[in-house]
Amino acid sequence: MKYNVKEMSRPELKEIIEYNFRDPDPELIKEADRIRRSVYGDRVFLRGLIEVSNVCRNNCYYCGIRHGNSIVKRYRLTKEEILECCELGFQLGFRTFVLQGGEDPYLDDKRLVDIIKTIHERYPLCAITLSFGEKPKESYQRLFEAGANRYLLRHETASDDHYRRLHPDKLSLVNRKKCLYTLKEIGYQVGAGFMVDSPFQTAWNLADDLLFLRELEPHMVGIGPFIPQKDTPFGMEKTGALSHTIIMLALTRLLLPEALLPSTTALGSIDRHGRERGLQAGANVVMPNMSPIEARSKYKLYDHKVSSGAEAVEGLENLVEQIRAAGYQADFSRGDYIPTIPLK
Ligand code: SAM
Repeated sequence: MKYNVKEMSRPELKEIIEYNFRDPDPELIKEADRIRRSVYGDRVFLRGLIEVSNVCRNNCYYCGIRHGNSIVKRYRLTKEEILECCELGFQLGFRTFVLQGGEDPYLDDKRLVDIIKTIHERYPLCAITLSFGEKPKESYQRLFEAGANRYLLRHETASDDHYRRLHPDKLSLVNRKKCLYTLKEIGYQVGAGFMVDSPFQTAWNLADDLLFLRELEPHMVGIGPFIPQKDTPFGMEKTGALSHTIIMLALTRLLLPEALLPSTTALGSIDRHGRERGLQAGANVVMPNMSPIEARSKYKLYDHKVSSGAEAVEGLENLVEQIRAAGYQADFSRGDYIPTIPLK
């Protein structure tokens, strides 16, 4: 089968997804690995992830830290705690810090700018990635000027009807997409992304995800399986399949050869070998957790989320060995996007 994903029409993409979900084609995975090696070699970039706050004003139906979940214990790291995480990460060799959190009103521009500026002053050669959801253009601009370089904002699903079924009316796909274009315009390296096998998802929705990625041309794409969290409206839904997630990763690698694609925590959470399988299907980034241990169990986006062992900085040697055993080399450098073809 020929995988010219860059050229395929919507029905062709839908068909290729359905075909591979039924009967995965090993050639697709091999092709994704070949393309990834042709751009990034065997390097797997490591980023240190800090889960800054699980307070969120939003109520996404799938997410364990949604505002309406009264069971989850809320926390917010102090500036000092965040800086301690960065120092630990820096000593361990990390050159990218990823700060992620819910849409926490306490973390306003002033506080975030202060944190980002301090990190940037202390570690001027390190990249700072943010993932704090939707904000007005002026806020994104301020955070960029303070020293942030990258922004992760998964679009979650590129189909409007599907978006409506995963989110309350207050949130809109139009705004989410607009934020992504704004971030790109400001100069961030931008990460979009989506969950695989989220409730109500069809192959058409996934085809639309690929078409949206083709249009946006993001620098990074986060793809992970949907995993239920029992205290959310989707608590009884089915966990996404590893094989489906792997196929979407591989198709994304074919579509965006230069993209930085994490083999996500969610993949590692549904299968002992999920992380390695992701790397072998075109992923080239891993983000071990360097949040304080007490915070990790509270950043519970979904049930059975792994946050120890090779998933975390304490298990770094283990992770480096896992990456090697999968056929790649852990790389602690900043790992910026390499444009081989100029972006639009
Ligand atoms: N608030 C920021 C945002 O909106 O982008 C960042 C935090 S948000 C919790 C990070 C990502 O977690 C989301 O983009 C979503 O794809 C993922 N996520 C949330 N709940 C999930 C679930 N039940 N299963 C898998 N992934 C989930």
